[in-house]
Amino acid sequence: MNTTCPYCGVGCGLIAGEGTIAGDPAHPANRGRLCVKGAKLAATLDDRERLRTPMVGGRETSWSAALDAAADGFARAIAAHGPDSVAFYVSGQFLTEDYYVANKLMKGFIGSANIDTNSRLCMASAVAAHRRCFGEDLVPGIYEDFDEAELIIFAGSNAAWCHPVLFQRALAARATRGTRIVVIDPRRSATAEFADLHLAVRPRGDLALFCALLAACADRGALDRDYIARHTAGFGAALAAARQAEHGIDPAAFETLAGWVAATPRMVTAFSQGVNQSETATDAIGAILNLHLATGRIGRPGAGPFSLTGQPNAMGGREAGGLANQLAAHLGFDDPDDHATLSEFWGAPNLVRRPGLKAVDLFRAVADGKIRALWIAGTNPAESLPASLDVRDALSRCPHLVVADCWPTATTAHAHVLLPAAGWSEKDGTVTNSERMISRQRAFRPAPGAARPDWWMFAELARRLGHGAAFAWDVPAAIFREHAALSAFRNFGRRRFNIGGLAAIPDDDYDAMRPLRWPLAGDRLFAEGNFPTPDGRARFVAVSPLRHARTDFTLNTGRLRDQWHTMTRTGRVAELMAHQDAATLELAPTDAARLGVLPGDLVAAGSEGARIVFPAAISPGQCEGSVFAAIHWTAAQGSAGSVNRLTVPATDPISGQPAFKHSPVRLAAV
Ligand code: SF4
Repeated sequence: MNTTCPYCGVGCGLIAGEGTIAGDPAHPANRGRLCVKGAKLAATLDDRERLRTPMVGGRETSWSAALDAAADGFARAIAAHGPDSVAFYVSGQFLTEDYYVANKLMKGFIGSANIDTNSRLCMASAVAAHRRCFGEDLVPGIYEDFDEAELIIFAGSNAAWCHPVLFQRALAARATRGTRIVVIDPRRSATAEFADLHLAVRPRGDLALFCALLAACADRGALDRDYIARHTAGFGAALAAARQAEHGIDPAAFETLAGWVAATPRMVTAFSQGVNQSETATDAIGAILNLHLATGRIGRPGAGPFSLTGQPNAMGGREAGGLANQLAAHLGFDDPDDHATLSEFWGAPNLVRRPGLKAVDLFRAVADGKIRALWIAGTNPAESLPASLDVRDALSRCPHLVVADCWPTATTAHAHVLLPAAGWSEKDGTVTNSERMISRQRAFRPAPGAARPDWWMFAELARRLGHGAAFAWDVPAAIFREHAALSAFRNFGRRRFNIGGLAAIPDDDYDAMRPLRWPLAGDRLFAEGNFPTPDGRARFVAVSPLRHARTDFTLNTGRLRDQWHTMTRTGRVAELMAHQDAATLELAPTDAARLGVLPGDLVAAGSEGARIVFPAAISPGQCEGSVFAAIHWTAAQGSAGSVNRLTVPATDPISGQPAFKHSPVRLAAV
């Protein structure tokens, strides 16, 4: 049976057989290829530790009793404290159908926008930058652009490990057409090992670098003045601001890069968490978009800015409105027409009028007692949010906590109502990958015990809260049809997210659906230079770097090649654990010498209120003053605890995305 990988945003197609999982040669995203995580998926189908039975107050019970208890807590909070006293915190592991139902319930019928997702940790800054520049959250390019580019810049992306199958396309382009690969990253990552040029920017240095590249293109006569004049607004102020930037890069390396950028129209800039997870992320992405607009390198073969999404359905969540600051179907809070459109389509009596709380603020509100009932699904914020000990404290004080998940986690330990969720391989629906390709995830084996899909749980909650008529779907195909119909409702070409052609798809065709990219009648967006803004022009944004106080050490966090999130799935596979079997703290040789630390010695890393002792890994790829720890290990894997005990809850002021890439820490040899 054909399905889609549950891990990264590349969205590789799979064929699930009897105890086997292989790459799908007919899926356009991967053409049969898989990375090591995807290739080992069959070994993760182990149900021994799964949650199987609903529980209330630690006792097993029926679905009916558990959902009654869950709904009762929500109803009481809403009655006593209003709709903004409740919240959902959901997941990029959700299928689009799950997202659609949860979002419709919270925003349309409960009347609050307090629904956010762990995708906030992943690509919220890209969403904010796209909306500001293009007028809508749109990724212009497609994967074929990696085949056709002659210069690919990976900015804040360790794609060789985190988006491996797409990175293989970049390597293939180099082999066949001599494409240059550039990596911009404070670390000499695995991706940098393949690069023709690696620029080790200081943490948050990406913003200054892309500003400087814009100025360099202007000085070298490499701007597309005709494109700027016909399709954009605000260029003069953006260039003036960019000229203020001091990039701090080795001058020879910068000159090399500037020369390549100026001379190579077929240029893709692929950016990911290294750019997104910063206090200046939206502006840094704005600087990338400015560079592409100013050179006319957008909407053309082999050219464009490209947001690499971390999770399998980060894009689908955006389409369905899974973020607290947007409505469904790319409708927004800032346009009264959008509110009227959604209100009419849903027949929603309480459609919310203002954005809700973004992830970090949402958990602060739990800690402050403002959120009285919280439903967490498919994610483990007790490990994955910054300042995770504070998050645990908030969870322990939440008056009514419902958690739906597949496995026990540090978050499920706090649940008053615990619901067993069906997971990948057990539920049906769709996901959208980094290039806007919608693929089916299919159930090819039964869920263990009484586990059920998330969309069903939210529909049952809606029914118990008195909104059953608007949530009366019996199959995911029916939810998808409504989602598709909404995208076209009173659209009139205003929004590019429009899959209305699928609004009447029969159940059988949905079951058989092959991958398709939206918009359904095209590939690259903006090929004609027309943008979904009121005047059809893209907006340059005047951005320039801030000065940041220096700290002794900056903690950078990220992924390993063979692990995923907090290892609930990948940690069960011995071959995947063999790549790196324990948490370490990577530090530069000069810093190790300064601390008197040898490889394997213990180093204590401390921040406000938390301390973790790591074995040291001394890496010449680390820049001085910056240390790196992987995000995956938790106490469940026998480590001293998640590295997020040390990360600070600072966020980008526009996107609300946490700044995981540069938390100040103190180090000492133990
Ligand atoms: Fe799965 Fe991503 Fe690997 Fe493809 S590249 S197999 S989507 S983890």
